[in-house]
Amino acid sequence: MTMKTMTAALFHEHGERDVLRLERVPIPVPAAGEVRLKVAACALNWLDVGIRRGPQFGAVPLPLTTGVDVCGQIDALGDGVAGWREGDAVTLYSLVTCGLCEHCRAGDVTICPQHAIIGEHSNGGLAEYMLAPARNLIAKPAALSAVEVAALGVVSMTAWHMLITVARLRAGETVFIPGAGGGVASIGIQIAKYAGATVIASTSSSAKMAKARELGADHVVNYHEDDWIEQVIDWTGGRGVDVAQDLVGAKTWASSLQTLARGGRMVVCGSHSGKRFPLHIPQIYHRQLSILGSNGGTYNELCTALELANAGVLRPVIDRVLPLADIREGHRILEEHDHFGKVVMQVGD
Ligand SMILES: [Zn+2]
Repeated sequence: MTMKTMTAALFHEHGERDVLRLERVPIPVPAAGEVRLKVAACALNWLDVGIRRGPQFGAVPLPLTTGVDVCGQIDALGDGVAGWREGDAVTLYSLVTCGLCEHCRAGDVTICPQHAIIGEHSNGGLAEYMLAPARNLIAKPAALSAVEVAALGVVSMTAWHMLITVARLRAGETVFIPGAGGGVASIGIQIAKYAGATVIASTSSSAKMAKARELGADHVVNYHEDDWIEQVIDWTGGRGVDVAQDLVGAKTWASSLQTLARGGRMVVCGSHSGKRFPLHIPQIYHRQLSILGSNGGTYNELCTALELANAGVLRPVIDRVLPLADIREGHRILEEHDHFGKVVMQVGD
């Protein structure tokens, strides 16, 4: 019997973009409880770049195909999978948790110490086929294309978890979202508006400022202007914002904290501009600021965001769609911040 093969984007060692390659590899066979997906589209995330450069939290298997934001069709079922059929159009919740620890039992699955990510700790969607546990499947929302669903996945649940679940953003509050062109930021603007908040965003060019306004930002500043922080604070009547949603890291922590009102909350997820920041401790207690960590999102949060997108309330923000063969170009776009919204790899049809 000849082994059936597929094309996968993978790397055998960590490093710069040139470690990424397309190779023919065996089509994987689903184990009990798993399905095999024929991938239609897979969006890139900063995670793909970070894992390629080096392991983020613990070692990863090599060679590795990353890709956590997948939309496709069920192609084969492992033993014991019920409720799904071959041909079903689906997307994937990418977090695999233990289900047994105190956090999982309390519903806080994103802090499960045993958690693993499909596309980081096992092969993901930047290949023609991939495996996934059946319990991680979600039916594809009917009104959205595969590319749109892939573009929403991780960023929509991450933004929801940050703003609604962790920062407890309320109607009438003001939120500052730096780096409006980022995937989570561009959905965060929309979720904050849906929650009834006033949104101030920052970005780097007049073209990106116009796009942030189109998504619903009430006020947009250009962070290349010297006085942009004063502009944010002036715009709140001198008070500062209630919540800052920061995904950028070391480069923006100082300014995000400065924009906060007394008693304000900064919710953080991501540090790609740098992992260390010298905190001025008195400003935290004098102004009674909160720094809140957030990581990923839950299955239910992803379902909620997808339902809102299916109803037209949230809009996927897609910068461009590339063929899988352009995987290095996809990584370049993310690394050089040459985008507004998601870069999606079209894998199949
Ligand atoms: Zn757990």
